[in-house]
Order: sequence, then C-alpha cells, then structure tokens
Amino acid sequence: MIKINENTKLVVLTGAGISAESGLKTFRDSDGLWENYPVTDVATPEAYQRNPAMVWRFYKERWKQARQAHPNPGHEALARLETWLGQNFSLITQNVDGLHTRAGNSRVIEMHGSLENALCLSCNSRSPMDSINLDPDIPACPKCGASLRPDIVWFGEMPYRMQEIDALLQACDVFMVVGTSGVVYPAAGFVMTASYLGAKTLAVNLEAGEMPHFVDEFHQGKAGEVLPRIVENWMEA
Ligand code: NAD
Repeated sequence: MIKINENTKLVVLTGAGISAESGLKTFRDSDGLWENYPVTDVATPEAYQRNPAMVWRFYKERWKQARQAHPNPGHEALARLETWLGQNFSLITQNVDGLHTRAGNSRVIEMHGSLENALCLSCNSRSPMDSINLDPDIPACPKCGASLRPDIVWFGEMPYRMQEIDALLQACDVFMVVGTSGVVYPAAGFVMTASYLGAKTLAVNLEAGEMPHFVDEFHQGKAGEVLPRIVENWMEA
C-alpha cells in the first residue's frame, strides 16, 4: 500500500462521486443527465445564450439543493488530511457544490467554478449568490446592473486555475483521484500526467471498471467509507 508522511506532497482530485453520499446526484447516476436535464441544455455557453432564464432556474435550484446538503465522512477525511499535511496538501475539485470548503478544506481549487457565486457578463465581478436579488429571471449585477451568469465553467470553456494545477501535477509525490468517471477533460487526464511525471497514484471509486495502467492502487467502495480508512491508516503509520 502507498504510504505517506508529513513531508509527502499530496494532490487529491475529486468528482461528483464524493458528494453522492451527501445526496447530490452524479452525472453517471442519471445517464449523462444532470438532475434530469441534458447538459447541452444547461451547461454550455450556447444554452445560456439561447435561454438564460432556463439556465438560471436550473442553477438556482442546484444552489439551493447544495446548501441543504451536508459534507459526508469522505469530505471530512480530506479536511483531516489538510490539517495534517498543511501546505503539502492540495485539493482540486470538479464539484461546484462547495462541500469541501464547508467540511473545512481551504486549499481547494474549484476548477469548474462554484454554485456559491454569480459572474457579471459586463464588469466580470463575482457576487455571492446570497448577496444578489434572485427574483428576476436573469439576476442583475449589484455593481453595474448588467446581466449575471452562474460562476460555473461550462462545457467548451477553460477551467479555472489551470497554471496552478499544472504546477501541482509536476510537483506532487502522490496523486489520489476520488469519485470521478474520468470522462470530462482536462481533469480526466490529470492522473495520467501526474503518473508520467513520477507521482504514485491511487484511485477510489464505487465501480471497479477498467483501471488504466497508470493507476498504481485502486480502492473500490464508497468514498465516505474508503477515504476515512485510508486517511486513518496514513496518519497512524
Ligand atoms: P461523474 O458523474 O461522471 O462520475 C461519478 C463517478 O463517481 C463515477 O465513476 C461513479 O462510479 C463514482 N461514484 C459514485 N458514487 C460514489 C461514491 N459514493 N464513492 C465513490 N465513487 C462514487 O462525475 P465527474 O467525473 O465528477 O464529472 C461530472 C461533471 O459534472 C463534473 O465536471 C462536475 O463539475 C459536474 N457535477 C458536479 C456535481 C457536484 O458538484 N456535486 C454533481 C453532478 C455533476
């Protein structure tokens, strides 16, 4: 089994699977749909151009749903890892639900944005969702009055903080991927890149599937059960 200590540079990548036990559906659960919506209707810039009110309805609902959810033992295990490893720990998430931050992680890169914020199409400023008037079909920027969009990276857009992510992949000793199907790029390529650059790699997933050769260690099971065991093991060694 891969071992780590206080000096190990660890990077963790999470996907929708880690939030499944908090009651938030993954894409996979719903056959490529996100809460019954085809992603092309709600998660592309074209969808927003076609029907911004419908896209806003969808994300207002997702935001409310995420706020009602609670971090689960999988999120909490990653928060313990950060407390233990400090600056040697980094978390990259594809999730937009904010549960990692609520579990206590602060070294988090939300590469696909966050349901917690809206972005102004004119002045580019970010506003917390709970600070804006959500009654209009298309909410307005509190700073300049222009239309807001959800602060979500849609298909076809560049994920956030890619340079930082690149540096993390180059520098890490161990790379762990949790609850992601590995179909959404560029995140799907991170584990391979980290492995080729010399990191040891491990994956945690409910389904065994076919593990690529660049995953050194695979742990099958629910993230909320498997992660606490892995972390306990590491911290006790
Ligand atoms: P995905 O839905 O494509 O894959 C989820 C993966 O998690 C699957 O491989 C599944 O086997 C695994 N899984 C399911 N339950 C699990 C559990 N309890 N423990 C461990 N693994 C489990 O998700 P993805 O790869 O993250 O890609 C989906 C995209 O959709 C992401 O870009 C994300 O931004 C977005 N999304 C986010 C949320 C969220 O923020 N919670 C929810 C749905 C979709």
